[in-house]
Amino acid sequence: SKERLQQLALVPPVTPDGMMLELAANISTLKELDAVLRSGAHGIGLFRTEFLYMDRGRFPTEQEQYEVYREAAERLQGKPLIIRTLDIGGDKHLDYQEMPEEENPFLGFRAIRFSLSRKDLFKVQLRAILRASAHGNVQIMYPLIASVEEVREANGVLAEAKRELAAEGVPYREDVPTGIMIEVPAAVAIAELLAEEVSFFSIGTNDLIQFTLAVDRMNEQISHMYEPFHPAVLRMLRAVVEAASSRGVRVGVCGELAGDVRAIPIWLGLGIQELSLSSQAILPVKEAVLRTFAQESRGLMEELFSLRIASAIRERLERFHSEAV
Ligand code: PEP
Ligand code: MG
Repeated sequence: SKERLQQLALVPPVTPDGMMLELAANISTLKELDAVLRSGAHGIGLFRTEFLYMDRGRFPTEQEQYEVYREAAERLQGKPLIIRTLDIGGDKHLDYQEMPEEENPFLGFRAIRFSLSRKDLFKVQLRAILRASAHGNVQIMYPLIASVEEVREANGVLAEAKRELAAEGVPYREDVPTGIMIEVPAAVAIAELLAEEVSFFSIGTNDLIQFTLAVDRMNEQISHMYEPFHPAVLRMLRAVVEAASSRGVRVGVCGELAGDVRAIPIWLGLGIQELSLSSQAILPVKEAVLRTFAQESRGLMEELFSLRIASAIRERLERFHSEAV
């Protein structure tokens, strides 16, 4: 029941054999913060900042953005707040910004690609985030990273924003952690190289599944082929964790799959440290974490890697889930 779930808000998300799986929330607006705080979330694992840009018919100013990020940081009282820089393009558009007509918008001019082509706008956002970093546990995340160069170029703009603020005497946190979304297969393939550049990874399963399987996440004609439990997806996830863990880089998951209770043994079995999900999914997922053994999950993963077809993997996960209930 709802009340019983609500009581779980204060219970830490730890398996019966003692493995912690931090549960953070995805948000797009400050309005969602109340529900997040009520759910007992570990923090915000993904603040999608697109809405700030879609809301007002023009680019938001540094001050406007700063006020929003600062309020979120303060209300979280030291809990992590991962702010993702603008991920416009793909399915999200700004009606005041001319964007090219594209044959393949998800493969096109979007996210970090847009930001790096408009460093003036990018720097405004980074300055706002840096200023908010003086008021809480703020972290910065770049979307759709596909190369080491992109990370370095983005960090270059960040360094410039820091220098400006320092010269102006404006406070910010010098060692604000920076991380990247892992949502392009190229990023999985070079995860060991990217791990040298950042302090955390967050796997965006929505895009990663679409690109791994070459299945447009918006195309209904092929939606039956959008298969989170495809053996290729499991291998992508494993490769990311292996590349990151040997280098001390934290790995979280923030796509929709993070909210699917059937996937919990995948995270526990691979050694994922954090999930970020919609606030409604936090308590149901926590309830499942509380009765899923990490040790059994590791055994299950070995079994799953021997299976060759998605339906077999999915059915095995469903059986495991119903047995854990
Ligand atoms: C993802 O791709 O999984 C993700 C979390 O980002 P978005 O859904 O905003 O593209
Ligand atoms: Mg994405």
